[in-house]
Amino acid sequence: MVFPGSFLGTEEEFLPGENCFEQSSSVYSDSIGKEHFDFDEKVVSVKKLSPDVSMLSIGNVVHAVVVLVKDQACVLEILEMEDPQRPGKKVVSGSKSSVLPVFSVMNSYVKFMSDYFKIGDIVRARVEKISPTGIELETKSGPGLGVVMAYCVSCRHALKLVEMELKCSHCGSNERRKISADYSLK
Ligand SMILES: [Zn+2]
Repeated sequence: MVFPGSFLGTEEEFLPGENCFEQSSSVYSDSIGKEHFDFDEKVVSVKKLSPDVSMLSIGNVVHAVVVLVKDQACVLEILEMEDPQRPGKKVVSGSKSSVLPVFSVMNSYVKFMSDYFKIGDIVRARVEKISPTGIELETKSGPGLGVVMAYCVSCRHALKLVEMELKCSHCGSNERRKISADYSLK
């Protein structure tokens, strides 16, 4: 699973294929999807995840992108779910809107949602509730839950996790999030 800005290899190793781009001699993904390395042709490409109508249930772990950050909640668009029946395999859910309330972020008190999530962040979260009004997520029940990919607020480059801090290698800024132990760019 890769995200926009995920590092895929150096220019010497691979040429950028479908849904990839090259910058400063490195190749990155420009999409959310599954990476594919063609070692014969020396090309890396990313196969975009296609929508599916799998039903979500409580306890499912999903990947979602933050589309709105309010004081009391984040609104996230669910991109895909992890399938408990097939460990390691992932099924994409349909495009579904969900909410992460401020009290479900972590076990300690969260005053400002915007200290922990920003628009565009990719979040690994667990489905807590499903009601006619929508899907509710939480990120407090495990260390693997939280932001798995974040982008610099100033320049939009992917942030790298260095010694428990998120740093932008492009403009040098440091940012704060509710970071998952599975953060994807280390
Ligand atoms: Zn930056």
